[in-house]
Parts: sequence; structure tokens; C-alpha cells
Amino acid sequence: MFVVSFGFNPRKLLQRVSSDLQGLLESDELWLCAWCYRCTERCPSGIQPTEIFLLTRNLAARQGHIPANPRAIMGQIMRSGRSIPVPSDFDEWRGEYGLPPIGATISQTALDEQRKIFGEKLLRRLEA
Ligand code: SF4
Repeated sequence: MFVVSFGFNPRKLLQRVSSDLQGLLESDELWLCAWCYRCTERCPSGIQPTEIFLLTRNLAARQGHIPANPRAIMGQIMRSGRSIPVPSDFDEWRGEYGLPPIGATISQTALDEQRKIFGEKLLRRLEA
């Protein structure tokens, strides 16, 4: 069994929420949580770290602290409705398996609705 450690520790992250909030808001570490909810499910005190990290991340985004990778993903979603670009020959591959094409983007209506959900403030931050 392989154990990979990146030094990420939800307990330390939670401590920083109360001891170094501004530093945490400005760090990329806050964005490493993958929302697996394991820490929330296992916490013997019923603390919900995942929700706390989500709220803290929202606060960071409000202050404009969005690391390059999530910023790029959000920009990609805004442009195409998809979190990763669809390769130009993707529909051709799908056709070989008898699957219908999905196209490079979602409909303009869906993109417009998405812009409303994201909100103009967040869009300006992403484009800054
Ligand atoms: S939700 Fe999962 S990824 Fe996020 S801090 Fe808890 S255990 Fe780590």
C-alpha cells in the first residue's frame, strides 16, 4: 500500500482558521481540500471541517484570493461550461463507440444561466 503525504493536514488547517485566518485566506493550502468529507464523518466531536473549509474558501474568494489552478478551472467553465477542455477530435472518438457528439461547449442559454449563477462580481475577479 502506498501512502502519499503532501503535508496537508485538516487538523492543522482547522487550527489556522482560528489562529491565522488572514494568512490562510491568502494561501493556496486552503484550496487543497477535495471535499471528500472524511474528516467530517470521522470527527468525534461532531465538528464539520469540510463545511468550515468551504465557508473559509468562499471568504478567500470574496477577498480575491483564488489560486491560479481553481481560477483557470472556473474560467474554463465560464467559457465552455466544462471544467476541462474537450479535445477537438473528442466527438469523433465518441462516434466510433456509437455515442452522440457532445460538442466543445454547452448551449448559449446554459452559459448565460451559468454567468448569472457565478455572478458578475466573481466574473470580474476571475478576469482580473
Ligand atoms: S474533506 Fe477530505 S480532503 Fe477535505 S480536509 Fe477533510 S479529509 Fe481532507
